[in-house]
Amino acid sequence: MLSKQERTAFYKSKEWRHVREQVLKANNYECQECKRQGKVSTGKRLDVDHILELEYYPELALDLDNLETLDFECHNKKHNRFIKKENKWRDDEKW
Ligand SMILES: [Zn+2]
Repeated sequence: MLSKQERTAFYKSKEWRHVREQVLKANNYECQECKRQGKVSTGKRLDVDHILELEYYPELALDLDNLETLDFECHNKKHNRFIKKENKWRDDEKW
């Protein structure tokens, strides 16, 4: 298992930056989760996600089969991060 410090160092490494670019290109700079749902995600911040999490599978850190492009929203959903209430309401209401 990788510590937070080790993960931070990884995300700053040249190897990661290089592989990250490869994944973005291979995925056409599109969110793969939105794509699976038949939606098109454009203009949002894109992240490259470890399908099996880096923390637990450091051996797959640079494995292209374990990487995919997600937008900010889908990435947050996947990791169940705290999302501000304002955002939730904004999404729920149709103006
Ligand atoms: Zn998405």
